[in-house]
Amino acid sequence: MDSLRELYQQVILDHNKQPRNFRVLDPASHQAKGHNPLCGDRVTVYLDVDADGVIQDISFQGQGCAISTASASLMTTMLKGKTQAEADALFNKFHALVTSDAEPTDDLGKLTVLGGVREYPSRVKCATLAWHAVQAALENQAEPVKTE
Ligand code: ZN
Repeated sequence: MDSLRELYQQVILDHNKQPRNFRVLDPASHQAKGHNPLCGDRVTVYLDVDADGVIQDISFQGQGCAISTASASLMTTMLKGKTQAEADALFNKFHALVTSDAEPTDDLGKLTVLGGVREYPSRVKCATLAWHAVQAALENQAEPVKTE
């Protein structure tokens, strides 16, 4: 279990240090900001969704703790190429992973490394911030999302 935990830590550190898809997407069909006042995390997500509802490209920018950055980075790698419905389904599974004792399913992929945050309720908001922002973007909400 310790080596597994270490591996998890490595993935999070890696994605925090070198976040994937960390850029402004221009033009973006959808975008939204997220703010987690509890921790100070801020994220803006950008999506390019085609007429069939498929996420052709996704990126993010922002500043936050290692958990929020790594989660946003991992999220962008997972959501590219997915439909909005698939993205919603994945978010539901991810949310269950970080808030309950649900066993991780295969389709969560590397997102399972974030399962450890379930021990730290305040960190759950860090881990889900970018996901909430994506949902807001897809729902075309004008207001920035807050986790509080
Ligand atoms: Zn945070």
